[in-house]
Amino acid sequence: MTRAVQQTTRDLRRHNRSAVLSRLYVQGPTSRQDLTKVSGLSSATVSNVVSDLINDGVVAEAGLVGSDGGRPRTLIQVRGEFGHVVGVDIGETHVQIGLFDYTLATLATATYSVASTRLEPESVIGLVLAGVEEVVSQVGVETGSLLGVGVGVPGAVQQIGGRELVYAPTLGWSAVPLADMLRRDLPVPVYLDNCARTLGQAEMWRGAGRGARRAIVALLGVGVGAAVATSSESFRDMTSMTSTTSEWGHTVINVDGRPCRCGSRGCLEAYVGAEAVLDDYLALPDARPFESKGTEARLAELVARAEDGGGASQVLGKTAEYLGIGIANLINLLSPDRVVLSGWAGETMGSAILPAVRETVRRHAVSYMYGQVRIELGQLGQEAVALGAATLPVVQVLASGGSLPA
Ligand SMILES: [Zn+2]
Repeated sequence: MTRAVQQTTRDLRRHNRSAVLSRLYVQGPTSRQDLTKVSGLSSATVSNVVSDLINDGVVAEAGLVGSDGGRPRTLIQVRGEFGHVVGVDIGETHVQIGLFDYTLATLATATYSVASTRLEPESVIGLVLAGVEEVVSQVGVETGSLLGVGVGVPGAVQQIGGRELVYAPTLGWSAVPLADMLRRDLPVPVYLDNCARTLGQAEMWRGAGRGARRAIVALLGVGVGAAVATSSESFRDMTSMTSTTSEWGHTVINVDGRPCRCGSRGCLEAYVGAEAVLDDYLALPDARPFESKGTEARLAELVARAEDGGGASQVLGKTAEYLGIGIANLINLLSPDRVVLSGWAGETMGSAILPAVRETVRRHAVSYMYGQVRIELGQLGQEAVALGAATLPVVQVLASGGSLPA
């Protein structure tokens, strides 16, 4: 064979492996016959690819399923043990590091509270390295054996001159080469992206976005972001990243409203961001000081107090109304079939505000669009953002057809 033919054969093989593996990853256990139907590949090709993937330990047979009249079919599924990935959530209240198996089951997490929103990049690097060390030792794996480390940042990642630079005004970061800084000390591939975007991917794969055509995944915390995640029937696109609207928090919902830390006034975030919600409560004449320290613990305390009605309950009611207006605007603009409330603050106050959010959206969204959308709570728990970041190395391995990073 000429080199060009060898190259083409190798590309085709990788393409077919990636197609079958991606489908198995997103869809769960599937028979060879169904893989043939949905892939457009021949049954011989699917058989060969599946055998290859089994030999490489990427997938395994997973029992039998009955078929109409015919003999039972063997299901194939992705093996979690194939490898480990790490996801890092660099938030405004905490830095969290999660270790996940290849199917994104959580194996260990390490969470460090951070007091100030003006975090120095070097101190964040220190926490990330300590966290990776802690989670790999908890589970007993070597850092060098990880498939990769994904980092979700509350800002934009721009590719400039072959480097990924992080712009995160809320952290006071401008053009921080965070990935390169981590690569100095981590002997594995490091990937970086906006945290709302990666969270959207995770909710689509494993959470409340499953089965949606177009989902808006809202990331609620001190800051407020949203990603628009679209599913694709196309094989190659199944692992591609979603588009994003991460500055949703700075869309204006109130003329001449409150000042926002972005410099504008009346932004959504100035009303539904976790610190704004706490400040609203403390400004009430009958407010009681919080017993706990830290934004996350205090929001949980507020939600607990709201169960007895009173000021805390009024504040959550108002929060639900502002959030509902922000969501209604997104619905009128983007016509999604699913909206997911995610992120740590979504996890903390989601159940308390969901009915009022839905009611506000019903009043403000155009009725035919409201009729086709479901508003749900995220299903990924407190480590949602870390899990989202962990999708970054997973996507790379899917795209390579299950080859290990060099
Ligand atoms: Zn703003």
